Amino acid sequence: MEQQNFAVINAGSSSLKFSLFAATPAGPVRRIRGQIAEINSAPIFSARIGTHSAEPDRLLGESYSGHHRCLDFLLAWLEQHAQVHAAGHRVVHGGLHFSQPVVLNTAIIKELETLIPLAPLHQPHNLQPIHALARLHPGLMQVACFDTAFHASKRKEAQQFPLPATLKDAGVRRYGFHGLSYEYIAMKLKEVDPALAPKRVVVAHLGNGASMCALHQGKAVDSTMGLTAADGLPMGTRSGSLDPGVVFFMAREMNMSLDTIEDILYRQSGLKGLSGLTHDMRLLEQSNDPQAHGAIDLFVYRIQQQFGALSASLGGIDGAVFTAGIGENSSLVRGKILKGLQWLGFELDDQANATHATCITTRQSNIPAYVIPTDEDLMIAHHVQQILSSR
Ligand code: AMP
Repeated sequence: MEQQNFAVINAGSSSLKFSLFAATPAGPVRRIRGQIAEINSAPIFSARIGTHSAEPDRLLGESYSGHHRCLDFLLAWLEQHAQVHAAGHRVVHGGLHFSQPVVLNTAIIKELETLIPLAPLHQPHNLQPIHALARLHPGLMQVACFDTAFHASKRKEAQQFPLPATLKDAGVRRYGFHGLSYEYIAMKLKEVDPALAPKRVVVAHLGNGASMCALHQGKAVDSTMGLTAADGLPMGTRSGSLDPGVVFFMAREMNMSLDTIEDILYRQSGLKGLSGLTHDMRLLEQSNDPQAHGAIDLFVYRIQQQFGALSASLGGIDGAVFTAGIGENSSLVRGKILKGLQWLGFELDDQANATHATCITTRQSNIPAYVIPTDEDLMIAHHVQQILSSR
């Protein structure tokens, strides 16, 4: 049988990341990965085939600006290497209806558009390449995989806000995000520690966007994010959880408009707002400024608090996993977090932590903590291959 290849597309506000996978009996294998940066101005294309750069970064220029032209270019480029049989997309919000990956059609795309108010900063960008591909290649199978979907299994209390029912009926619920990352970690944990995988595990996805998820039997029980990706932990530039009174204060006493408040809570807060310097953990770690260290300490403190909260959701904790940019690379942040969690049973192995070993707790530790690199696009690829093989 002919080998089937498919693209995975992860579109953000200014960049479009892509991979090309081949479906194999052992699962999807990544052949190509790359990105188009600056898609709205003068796009820059870069790609790697296997471990080699396919070609030097290529400035596509203003005539390629916009998703439609970039995807037209990308598909033609990919087709030079392999026939593309399908495309899988990361879509942040699946609302109440989509708790599984779905093959897209016009009606479903329209329904996903109605969810834009629930994720105004992400959903429109995720849908752009879907529209563009539907126009460019109407026959190409497109699959949407949702960041919210993995959280559909959360316990009932973890899905609700204590608000009047009219708001719940309008879709104001605690959905949860980074679901493709958690689903991937749950899958990988079966290889890393098969005995731990079905038990009570807290996963910390710590990147520019940051959240935590409580897993039991490999399924989500609770998470730190709610209606939007602004809830929970402080992040690179997002505040995370706030007393709602802060928003009233900003509006009434400081005469800020909704747009200004949104900009502050999404783009000027978190590590950037606290430090007054940058959202970038690497730079904060290198800085001598006490505010940079204060920002790291508050980030660590909130994560430690959530370890307690999510352990309560699970009725205990049997292990932890760190992932994403900070979780995978910052021994400083991981070390600070775990040193404050001895009461839960973690005993940090300083040497293992410093060298980013997979297990960063000692042999004597009551419960283990792991570092597992996440791969959301590979998770999407697994879903697309499953759908392709079932048709
Ligand atoms: P992500 O959104 O998952 O790409 O994560 C981005 C975050 O990871 C940024 O705050 C980076 O500074 C941080 N990060 C990446 N590499 C390192 C590193 N070696 N040490 C500390 N933080 C890092």
